[in-house]
Amino acid sequence: LVKGRVIIDSERCKGCGLCPTVCPQKILSLSETTNSQGVPYSTCIDASRCTGCAFCATICPECAITVFRMEGNG
Ligand code: SF4
Ligand code: SF4
Repeated sequence: LVKGRVIIDSERCKGCGLCPTVCPQKILSLSETTNSQGVPYSTCIDASRCTGCAFCATICPECAITVFRMEGNG
């Protein structure tokens, strides 16, 4: 079983909204609040369901997303 862990740099995020559209698990969502740039930022709303596919990291124009993949039952 491979699980993922997604880390989003909220200050780097420009709120473009692309990553929520490509996440197969639908666990990314733009925040209600804004970052210091004044834009909503992407957040992971259910980390336990991340598969580590990295589609989100691949599509992000700002390189704001890092994905780790972990083997095991975790
Ligand atoms: S790595 Fe895949 S499953 Fe995890 S948040 Fe990104 S797009 Fe969604
Ligand atoms: S794709 Fe990148 S810049 Fe766009 S909302 Fe997601 S994290 Fe933010």
